[in-house]
Amino acid sequence: MALLFYVRLIALTAGTLVYLFLLALILGHRRPRRFERLLFLLILSLFAIYAGGLLEVNAVIQYGAPPAATQRFANLLVASGLIFLLPLILHSHVEYMGLVRQKRLGKSSWAAVALVYLLIPAQLIFVAVMSHKFGIRFGPALANFANTDPLGNLAACAVVAALMQFAVFRAERNHRARNLAKLLFSISCLMFAIFMARTLYTEAASSVLSDLMATASVVAGVLPGAVLIYYMLKHNFLDFGAQRNLVYALSATVLALLYLSLVRRVSGWLEPVLPPEATASILLFVLIFLFEPLERAIGPILYRRFRERMSGLQNLTLDLQQEARHGDLARLISHAEQRIREEFGLGAVRISIPRDASQKGLESPGGLGHVVRMPLMKDHQEVGLLEAASTGSYLTGEISAGLEFLAEQLPPMADLCRLIEEKVRLERELADRERLAMLGQMAASVSHNLRNPLSSMKTVLQVQLEKPDLPADLRHDCALVVGEIDRMSAKLKQLLNFAKPLVNGQRVAAVALAKQTAALFRHDAERRNVILEFDGPEDEVSVLASEEALSEVFSNLIVNAIEAQPDGGRVRIGLARSGDHLEIQVEDRGPGVSAELRSRIFQPFFTTKATGTGLGLAIVARRVDEMGGTMSCESPIDGGKGARFRILLPTTLK
Ligand code: ADP
Repeated sequence: MALLFYVRLIALTAGTLVYLFLLALILGHRRPRRFERLLFLLILSLFAIYAGGLLEVNAVIQYGAPPAATQRFANLLVASGLIFLLPLILHSHVEYMGLVRQKRLGKSSWAAVALVYLLIPAQLIFVAVMSHKFGIRFGPALANFANTDPLGNLAACAVVAALMQFAVFRAERNHRARNLAKLLFSISCLMFAIFMARTLYTEAASSVLSDLMATASVVAGVLPGAVLIYYMLKHNFLDFGAQRNLVYALSATVLALLYLSLVRRVSGWLEPVLPPEATASILLFVLIFLFEPLERAIGPILYRRFRERMSGLQNLTLDLQQEARHGDLARLISHAEQRIREEFGLGAVRISIPRDASQKGLESPGGLGHVVRMPLMKDHQEVGLLEAASTGSYLTGEISAGLEFLAEQLPPMADLCRLIEEKVRLERELADRERLAMLGQMAASVSHNLRNPLSSMKTVLQVQLEKPDLPADLRHDCALVVGEIDRMSAKLKQLLNFAKPLVNGQRVAAVALAKQTAALFRHDAERRNVILEFDGPEDEVSVLASEEALSEVFSNLIVNAIEAQPDGGRVRIGLARSGDHLEIQVEDRGPGVSAELRSRIFQPFFTTKATGTGLGLAIVARRVDEMGGTMSCESPIDGGKGARFRILLPTTLK
């Protein structure tokens, strides 16, 4: 029947193009996972089946009986597609179920999938056995396998597909994906019915009916592909909708191919009356008149697409500006990297502000993608770098333009962020200063009110102590009270010192001062069984400070280190020149400072000691800051024990 033959021709052409279109679409996917790769192989099998069929039908049109080599090639295509179809249908659906359930495949699913792959060698063995049995060569046996599908492979495929799609339908929560599963399930059921009918009617040998069934199965086979394309483009199934450029390019190519084949065919039909070249020229010329309506049809689509992209970019910029207002540059950069990656479906994005010349260039994940680097410019100067890498496909012009736009927006955003960061810092500093000033006033008034009575009390007691006839027990008590008064005076002095700035920019010989301060504590250390070690450079090192401030730094650290080892131990005071800095280390073998405490010990009034003021380290931190230095605490330093306080102070030029 000529009509059925032409219907088959059209369906085979449509199927080949549909599956080719899908192949290209999947190849260009921005983030192919294992499922997309499996889908690619599945579509490749279907493409092979349709392409083989199309080749055969075209050969029939051209030559009547196709040449042996063409026939063999067409059969090989169909057979190879057919052999891989069932395992790939099962595997891709199982993988998809894993995505839906957000679970990795269990051992039993893997075993089932692996078992079904055994069908591939099993089918080949079947063909080999049949060829041996009927005394024919392997090639013709394979051709027969491709044409007659003796194992009912296609019907099995339809059943497996229907069952799996039913399972997907039940598991899926997204209503679009559910609808797709429902549609594919119906198509698979329809195909199963057609394949079964085809097998039955082939038996009955009614050539028209079997021809009809064969045609119906070819037509129905196009449907899954067409439905998949529709859902991918219309509903962005599996994130395919994002690649509009690719879709436009593919559609244009497919249309051009179809038009060219139409030109060829019409030229063939008109050959008796018109030379083929003339027909081709006329048909190509007619195309010119199609441009205007085509442009009118495409214009609004492109405009809508452009608006969508622009509003996406605007939202992204607004979001980043909002983030910049938090005044945290590192947070802005990591947020921008993540948002840009999501917006453009990229594999990796890195923003470096300022640009780090020693850093290795960004590489795409797996090294497969395409990387672009855009300098971030401000006042004609490069202030940073934006790097973006795709996962596999080429970065389209649309994405590059979007990235360029963002590269222009990022430097002012970083400036805004820094400005706010600075403002917040200044505000905090001001608040700190105000607090300290108040504390200073309070400390001054407390010490003023307490120091005088204390010193009067001390004088009275000292006078008593000088009396030779003072009873021994009273003498002992008086001495005790004098000691306590001294301790209280020292604490009051500490409170006063904390509140007032002490560094006045003198040149201080740090090594000599450290040695001198350490010597003051030698006696105290020996009493507590602590060995005091001093380790300093031969030459003197000067820093800009004040003697009082620097000695406060040393003494507070040494006191803490000694107090940390009530049962004896070792304290090392080390000084060394490090470039244009003086490095001071005070370390001990005490219990150390836990990570949790480390963030709090520099706060004023934080103490873990029963009689502590919690001001020692706060004073050290304040003085170091006034001297333009930095300070840190490491712990443990030695076998899970000890603490090391390290200070870096800028040195003065000799
Ligand atoms: P205070 O000595 O009055 O407690 P500091 O500000 O000098 O005040 O110290 C705060 C806290 O830091 C201490 O209470 C102690 O818990 C901890 N600390 C300081 N130096 C050391 C050290 N060398 N080893 C262990 N803990 C320390």
